[in-house]
Amino acid sequence: MDSKAPLTPLNIARRAVKDTDVKIDILYCGISHSDIHTVHNDWGGTKYPSVPGHEIIGRVMETGSGVSKFKVGDLVGVGCLVDSCRTCDSCKDNLEQYCENGAVGTYNGKDKDLGGHTFGGYSETIVVEEAFVLRIPENIDIKATAPLLCAGITTWSPLRHWNIKKGDKVGVIGLGGLGHMGVKFANALGAHVVMITTSESKSADAKKLGAHEVLISKDTAAMKQYSRSFDFLLNTVPVKHDLNPYIRLLKRDTTMCLVGAIEPLEDMHGGLLITGRKNIAGSLIGGIKETQEMLDFCGEHNIVCDIETINIQDVNKAYERVMNADIKYRFVIDMKSLKES
Ligand code: NAP
Ligand code: ZN
Repeated sequence: MDSKAPLTPLNIARRAVKDTDVKIDILYCGISHSDIHTVHNDWGGTKYPSVPGHEIIGRVMETGSGVSKFKVGDLVGVGCLVDSCRTCDSCKDNLEQYCENGAVGTYNGKDKDLGGHTFGGYSETIVVEEAFVLRIPENIDIKATAPLLCAGITTWSPLRHWNIKKGDKVGVIGLGGLGHMGVKFANALGAHVVMITTSESKSADAKKLGAHEVLISKDTAAMKQYSRSFDFLLNTVPVKHDLNPYIRLLKRDTTMCLVGAIEPLEDMHGGLLITGRKNIAGSLIGGIKETQEMLDFCGEHNIVCDIETINIQDVNKAYERVMNADIKYRFVIDMKSLKES
């Protein structure tokens, strides 16, 4: 298998359950854009064969003797991380995603137990230490919770970090997998939400998701009207793009947080930052504690992702559709289709 090959069936081993491990029977796994970037080696460093998947929902099928948080039958999730050093400053601050010694990714990470690299959730089972396993609320649509574990936490974490609250005017840039959750969360936190999109055709959808207004970023006159009016911008655009038109939208002393473009950016104009003491920041997924808080919030407020369920046999077609932005807004694989094949 290489960056050009389609995904095909593969037999993989999972480690035997250790004292603090939980073995999970996987029910559903979301398809994150990062899965596709990894399979295609867009960021370099992909180890093959690659088994992606870090939006995993399942039920506990076995627990180690030292496991205290979970029992057999519990509904659980695993997101982007399966381990970290637990001793560095970031880990001690419950920010394992920024582990200074390198957190272990659910796939393409270093497998300390079996050697080689970790395999993700497009599989029947997974074994994970309980510290990296999350409790999933039972009262919401289970399959539609899967993308919360990546798209959800990636948008929740910056909204919480910058303390978005009632009365704030928040712009969510880009209506895709991340953006649709950004709109739902910003709305649920009480903000006045503006969907900032290149696609006029998405206006009605944006409003259904919870946007109070829609701003078409290609409309320079409209962009001018919104100049210096936002308290926070969440930028989910996944590619290199011109940040300057968005910086102009920020009020003095406010922030645009990037979560989409994990790559070199176009030049930006220092003057636009300097003249309003504005900030450009970035944010990576979220820590385990914060992910649990987000899941609990979703349980309380009945928030899930908008998904389309597929069988594993259709995964390559689904990748094509994600790349063509032809999905509202996340695919979730029903893992029954793998077990029964
Ligand atoms: P997506 O579904 O493809 O959506 C991105 C949206 O951005 C598009 O639907 C489009 O929305 C807008 N867009 C695309 N190209 C644009 C351009 N050139 N200029 C302006 N807007 C553009 O992607 P996603 O699933 O939301 O993921 C976004 C990115 O986040 C991916 O690259 C992924 O790897 C990354 N990611 C980061 C983290 C993290 O921790 N930071 C975690 C997960 C994923 P409109 O049509 O509305 O304009
Ligand atoms: Zn650490």
